[in-house]
Amino acid sequence: MRAWRGNSICAPTSRIYIDLDRATCAQLKESHLSKFKVYRLRDYSKPIVVVSKCITFEPVRWDGGIIASEFVEKLKPYVSFVPVCPEVEIGLSVPRDPIRIILVDDEHRLVQPSTGLDFTDKMTSFAESFLDSLKEVDGFILKSGSPSSGFKNVKIYPKKEKSASIARGPGFFGRAVLEKFPGLAVEDERRLLNPRIKEHFLTKLFALASFRGVKKSNSMRQLVKFQSENKYLLTAYSQKELSVLGRLVANQEGRPIAEIMKTYETHLHSAFKRSPGPGSNVNVMMKIMGYFSHQLSTKEKSFFLGSLEKYKTGRLPLSASINILKAWIIRFQQEYLTSQTFLEPYPEELATLDTTTNSGERDYWK
Ligand code: SF4
Repeated sequence: MRAWRGNSICAPTSRIYIDLDRATCAQLKESHLSKFKVYRLRDYSKPIVVVSKCITFEPVRWDGGIIASEFVEKLKPYVSFVPVCPEVEIGLSVPRDPIRIILVDDEHRLVQPSTGLDFTDKMTSFAESFLDSLKEVDGFILKSGSPSSGFKNVKIYPKKEKSASIARGPGFFGRAVLEKFPGLAVEDERRLLNPRIKEHFLTKLFALASFRGVKKSNSMRQLVKFQSENKYLLTAYSQKELSVLGRLVANQEGRPIAEIMKTYETHLHSAFKRSPGPGSNVNVMMKIMGYFSHQLSTKEKSFFLGSLEKYKTGRLPLSASINILKAWIIRFQQEYLTSQTFLEPYPEELATLDTTTNSGERDYWK
């Protein structure tokens, strides 16, 4: 039950129902608000995510270790994970001597310095067959810095003997992921410590999972619904792609549905290529405010505009202004807006309050 639609709310742990219209402050306080279920504006599709097995799943690292990740732990109830360790899959043991990427005649090779063994061909063919075998997938969370799994910034050495790195690039499995699935949500656990990178990753991931369902349905009606629900999210991401997608959905040429879905997916991937800057998000929030601006007082409007200014200058998170909009959507019963993914692109429980934590990665728009 959604609290704002009915007149009561239920604390699931205590099974006490409270009449919200009549409840006193004391009653609400007594009922321990922290125990209340999170009420969502909408439902979510469950994304399918391939993850490096050493990130919280199994101790398969070269030294027998495992990588802790609060984010991956938090994601577990909301996504279907497919853990994989490419090094174990090509027959390496745990523990094992480390491997590295070296440059030989302008070509990257994956070698184990201690034994001189070259795993390039084995790793290349494993990556190809594993990725080909994936029937459905929306994203990847890969181990940063790994010569196998890393998808960027992996050290490349001039020789197998002890030496300083001379360049950086993707690992072997990570590169194959980017080549085979250039439009999907791909990140590593270290970059995901950056709140803005995480925000973009989750938004894209849940949108792609939802589109996968639309594609499966092969229904034009579902595609129209998807376009409508993502209207403001896509406005923030790319107005150019939004209009291309709109024309595709209108299908005035009467093209076959399979062709429309394929082209739509390509443009959807382009739309999600870059995270929107604060200016684009503010623009969308102003448009949404336009739905009720005639019902708001001058003070309410100026309070909201103040929150937008604080968001733009990094003093408030995006969610602060969005929460004001949500309260108005509930108050003025703007049903059309409740389905807008812009307001809740992914389950609220995955959102972070910490906008200052930074992994040292650059924000997308800088
Ligand atoms: S980084 Fe990749 S290859 Fe290395 S242990 Fe983790 S999953 Fe295995």
